Amino acid sequence: MTPRDPAVDGDLEVESIRRGPGAARAHAGRIEVVCGSMFSGKTEELIRRVKRALYGRQKVQAFKPRIDDRYDATRIVSHGAIAIEAVPVGSSESLLRRVEGDTQVVAIDEAQFFDRGIVEVCNRLADEGRRVILAGLDQDYLGRPFPPMPDLMAIAEDVTKVRAVCTVCGGAASRSQRIIQEGATVLVGGSECYEARCRACFRPRDVRQGEA
Ligand code: ADP
Ligand code: MG
Ligand code: ZN
Repeated sequence: MTPRDPAVDGDLEVESIRRGPGAARAHAGRIEVVCGSMFSGKTEELIRRVKRALYGRQKVQAFKPRIDDRYDATRIVSHGAIAIEAVPVGSSESLLRRVEGDTQVVAIDEAQFFDRGIVEVCNRLADEGRRVILAGLDQDYLGRPFPPMPDLMAIAEDVTKVRAVCTVCGGAASRSQRIIQEGATVLVGGSECYEARCRACFRPRDVRQGEA
């Protein structure tokens, strides 16, 4: 059985009552996406769901893209410093190869750094009856949708948007403001490179000055 979380497990419990517990396992496959800006608590929420799955004696495997080694190469670590063990992988194909047959829950952090193949990999894992939980940035530093997150959000059964606190006005922040001059879309960093901003306080053009 999956852990009980009324927000995301309600449909599963109804399924369990209707068809019996065996059928519920076969119907457990689904995709959940947790998204938002930097510092919005995506990783904390992913870790919270993983811990609840572990309390429910589920077999969980956690993955992260090899590119993200900000805090630790083999753990998923939040800005608030809570952590779980994770396997760093270089591609969606490598992730798929490492998922073991009896794994019930697959957790993936920083999903925006994966190649487009992650969309089909997640679909396949969910079709096999596994619960796939992804966390990732929904927008890049210019406020543009960050592929492949839009596609993952589209195929997910459940999408949760979390928000940070705007460092300028204290409101709910949905954007990641880059605070250093750097033109590349992928710049892995923490509070030295980015801060959370609401729509009104976000100034994407500020960081474009000086670019070619
Ligand atoms: P994400 O994975 O979305 O980048 P994390 O889960 O790693 O976020 O970190 C969330 C934590 O970051 C919060 O619980 C808080 O301790 C810290 N934090 C730092 N700056 C902010 C901010 N501006 N708004 C909210 N939380 C912040
Ligand atoms: Mg994170
Ligand atoms: Zn603001």
